[in-house]
Amino acid sequence: MYMYEEMVDGRKLTEIVNTEHENVKYLPGIKIPPNVVAIPDIVQAAEGADILIFVLPHQFVKKICESLKGHIKASAIAVSLIKGVNIADHGIEMMSNVISNILGLPCAALSGANLATEVAQEQFCETTIGTEDDDTGSLLQTLFETPYFRCSVVKDRQTLEMCGALKNVVGIGSGIVDGLGFGDNTKAAVIRLGLMEMIKFAEIFVQGSQRTTFFESCGVADLVATCHGGRNRMLGENVVKSDKSVKELERELLKGQSFQGPRVAREIYSMLESQGHLDRFPMFVMVHKICAREVKPQEFINCLRNHPEHL
Ligand code: 13P
Repeated sequence: MYMYEEMVDGRKLTEIVNTEHENVKYLPGIKIPPNVVAIPDIVQAAEGADILIFVLPHQFVKKICESLKGHIKASAIAVSLIKGVNIADHGIEMMSNVISNILGLPCAALSGANLATEVAQEQFCETTIGTEDDDTGSLLQTLFETPYFRCSVVKDRQTLEMCGALKNVVGIGSGIVDGLGFGDNTKAAVIRLGLMEMIKFAEIFVQGSQRTTFFESCGVADLVATCHGGRNRMLGENVVKSDKSVKELERELLKGQSFQGPRVAREIYSMLESQGHLDRFPMFVMVHKICAREVKPQEFINCLRNHPEHL
C-alpha cells in the first residue's frame, strides 16, 4: 500500500502503520492486517502488481499516475475507488479514464454507500463495480466481496463514477439544512431534488447513461449515506454554524483529509456556467455559492422552494 509520508508525534506514519498495524491519524482504532505494508514510494509500492487499486483525493491522481508511468506490469489492470471527476478543457472526464489514459491500462471503478469507518468495522454494506468487461467484473467481484461487503457489477461505469462525485455536493446541501435547523422532511427533499439534478447531469454529460444505475448502491444508497453520515454533510452544517471558510473548516475538522464536495461543486459550476446550463442545476449552484460565501446559507431553502422540478 502506497502511503503519503507524514510525521505523526515525531514518527513517520508508514513506520507506525508497519509496527502498530494501525493508521493512528486517519483510521484510529482499526487494526490493519499485517500483510498490508505501507510504502512511501509509489513506484516501489506498485512494483509487480497485477491489480492497482486507486483510493486517493481526485486532485492528486494525475501526479501519482505520472510518477507510475513506465513502472507497471504490462498486464496490470486498475480499479478506481475515487469519488471525484476531472474537469478538462474539453469537458468532464471520469477518474478511471484519467488513470487509463495516463498509464495505458484498462481501469474499472468501484463506488457505493461505503462510509470508511463502518466498512473498516466490517458492518454490512453494499457496493457497485462498474466495468464494460465481463471478465474484469467477475474478477473484481471475487477480489472485493466478503460476507459484509456485497458487490454487484454494472456496465455503466461512467454514471457510477459521476454519482460518486455529485453526491458529495448534495451531501453538503443536506448539512446546510441540518445547520439551519430543518428536519427530516426537508432533508428528504434535498435528497430527492439532488437525485433529480444528478440524473439530469448524467443525461447531458454521460453518453449512454442508464437510469437503473441510480438504483444501485453507487447511486441512491451512497447519496442517502452521504446525506446522513458523510464528511461533506458535516461540512455543510459547519458552514452554516460558523464564520469559517471551507479551508479553515477542512483544517479543523478533517486534520489532513480533504472535503471533495466543495471542489467538485466549484469545478462543475464553472463548467455549467461556460456551457450555459446553470439554471438547470440550482442546488449544485447554490451549494457552490454558499461554500464560496457568495450567498447566505438561508437562501438554500428558497432554492429548494423554487426548484424547476416543482414547475
Ligand atoms: P464523505 O466524503 O462525505 O465522507 O463521503 C463518504 C462516502 O463516500 C460514503 O460512501
